Amino acid sequence: MSEQNKSVSEFFGCNVFSDTVMRERLPKNVYKSVLKTKQLGTALDSEVADVVANAMKDWAVEKGATHYTHWFQPMTGVTAEKHDAFISPTADGGAILEFSGKELIKGEPDASSFPSGGLRATFEARGYTAWDPTSCAFIKDDSLYIPTAFCSYTGEILDKKTPLLRSMDVVSEQALRILRLFGNERATRVTTTVGAEQEYFLIDKKYYDMREDLVITGRTLFGAKPPKGQELEDHYFGNIKQRVSDYMKDLDEELWKLGIYSKTKHNEVAPSQHELAPIFTTANIAADHNQLTMEIMKKTALKHGLVCLLHEKPFAGVNGSGKHNNWSICSNDGQNLLDPGATPQDNLQFLTFLCAIIKGVHEYAPLLRLSAASAGNDHRLGANEAPPAVVSLFIGSELQAVIDALENGSKFSPTPDNEFEIGVDALPNFPKDTTDRNRTSPFAFTGNKFEFRMLGSADSISCTNTIINTVVANELCQFADELEKADNFEKALKALLIKTIKNHKQIVFNGNGYADEWIDEAVNVRKLPNLVSTVDALPEYTRPEFVSMFEKFKVYTATEINSRTEILLENYSKVINIEALTMLDMCNKKIVPACIKYTKSMCDAVISKNAIGIEANLERKLAQKLTQLTEDIAEAAAALDKKVLSAQSQAEGLTMAKYYRNEVFAQMQKLRLLVDETETMVAEEAWPFPSYSALLYSI
Ligand code: ADP
Ligand code: MG
Repeated sequence: MSEQNKSVSEFFGCNVFSDTVMRERLPKNVYKSVLKTKQLGTALDSEVADVVANAMKDWAVEKGATHYTHWFQPMTGVTAEKHDAFISPTADGGAILEFSGKELIKGEPDASSFPSGGLRATFEARGYTAWDPTSCAFIKDDSLYIPTAFCSYTGEILDKKTPLLRSMDVVSEQALRILRLFGNERATRVTTTVGAEQEYFLIDKKYYDMREDLVITGRTLFGAKPPKGQELEDHYFGNIKQRVSDYMKDLDEELWKLGIYSKTKHNEVAPSQHELAPIFTTANIAADHNQLTMEIMKKTALKHGLVCLLHEKPFAGVNGSGKHNNWSICSNDGQNLLDPGATPQDNLQFLTFLCAIIKGVHEYAPLLRLSAASAGNDHRLGANEAPPAVVSLFIGSELQAVIDALENGSKFSPTPDNEFEIGVDALPNFPKDTTDRNRTSPFAFTGNKFEFRMLGSADSISCTNTIINTVVANELCQFADELEKADNFEKALKALLIKTIKNHKQIVFNGNGYADEWIDEAVNVRKLPNLVSTVDALPEYTRPEFVSMFEKFKVYTATEINSRTEILLENYSKVINIEALTMLDMCNKKIVPACIKYTKSMCDAVISKNAIGIEANLERKLAQKLTQLTEDIAEAAAALDKKVLSAQSQAEGLTMAKYYRNEVFAQMQKLRLLVDETETMVAEEAWPFPSYSALLYSI
């Protein structure tokens, strides 16, 4: 179904019920009220909804759709959908295609099978989905997809979209208060914008199918290092192989049809690793699009005999995959509020937002850290391939000089003969630090946006952006509270900025985040939290001051946070449990039998050589060593089996998750070491799984 005969502009967004389609197909007044709903979040009345639903159905049916689905993002981290046909019976036994406004606005999937963290245990397992008109409906696989939020009937949210939408509203409200203080009366809405860069691996399906660990857990649980890893650094931005480039072209086309602005593609650091970056868009749409992108990536790969791995660490010894979350806020009068600007006034406004972010990241670092916490991402953070687990903020040396000048009340001088007073003169060519190519900072200012780099490749971006938005809203609110009552705005503002810098500058770090000295300094001198793993990070969610912030802005209730924490901890335990069981299965059914068989072939060689009087020292030694290793493997597997069993009897929640980390996972590591060592001693054809070399270098 290649679109190669059409130009991109002809098919871009052809499967999206976009504003343009709506304008064409809806009566003017209906179109206007939908637009209003989209922009201001006002409710849609039922007559309007009926007209929209009917137009959507006609459009979808013309495009071959037979079904519709409310598409939502439960706490599983992936999307969920249940399909209903448009079909309705007629009196004479025929059928017509129908779709009402009611069906568009509200759906009722059975909520009981989605994780709720105990929220519904107290109540009937009922939930409903509600249309999110800010994100366009689209067609995929002959169904009309309607982006929706997912709640329980008692009002608790069960998904990742609702809190994100709420957080976007609160950051808008608080940012507008700041803009008003700067005399801006035009802007009526501030939007969070996000661009999510997505890393992934592509491997040959033929080899994937032969690896139970990849099929079941998404990562290799065993695998000796290949002779060549990524040390030559020849893959990053290297030229793209034909098969991969065909895949990327196909993928781009599929994404473009869905209105996703896939823009950049290149090879990444590890062999077989690649990246896709879209053009940024509104945060909730970016979140929807990222989910779709991940799904289409996997699906398109299969068409090419490939498998797309989105796991954070599919292979030990080479880099894992992350997702960089580029975040900014812009007002609807056309300003990017994180753009330093060209006038003294704009510079000051920018510094105000910057200081709010510095303070927010310092005070709420644990929240940012836990938004990237998962069993998969634990392999990356702090492992010298992704940012450390300590959250810090990079602003670059030039912006650092501006902040220093402000704090010290001195003039900022970019060159010896040029001096500028902050707030009075326009800073010349306001800094765009280009030195931050080391990529070691978890949260980096990159010119007119912040790049949060802790997320893992499989993560949903919703939680992170919900947290960033709420934290920033909270700081802006405090700033506005203080400034609105000041007699002299400029004086009060300067005092506030200086105070903020003095109290929170220890979160700013522009150096190398991979250095051991940094972790030492961060923890011991700057007193920044180092939440090494998921089980260290997740309990922070329920810290009282964090909960009260979310409650203050009505983003989450305490109950919702508790349930989320529970779900995440439970998920962590489940993932490790599945990995451990898969390891045991592979060991007992394939690896140990293969070792025994291979050892026997060595012994046979010894016997037959001896029979004709030839020494068989090598075979003898190998057989001895393999016998020992096989015994060790069996023993380590038995120990793992025991630990998995006793994990079940731990108290659910944190205790169990910690047990999985400290006991089960630790034992998995021991078992892996033994197996990987054994793999290096066994002939390739005798080993039951394809090697790392085959997986990483076969395309
Ligand atoms: P790099 O690899 O240097 O991080 P890329 O160009 O690959 O840069 O990615 C930058 C990402 O940031 C893109 O997805 C881009 O759309 C996004 N971006 C640019 N400006 C903004 C903005 N104002 N708000 C949010 N995201 C942005
Ligand atoms: Mg980036």
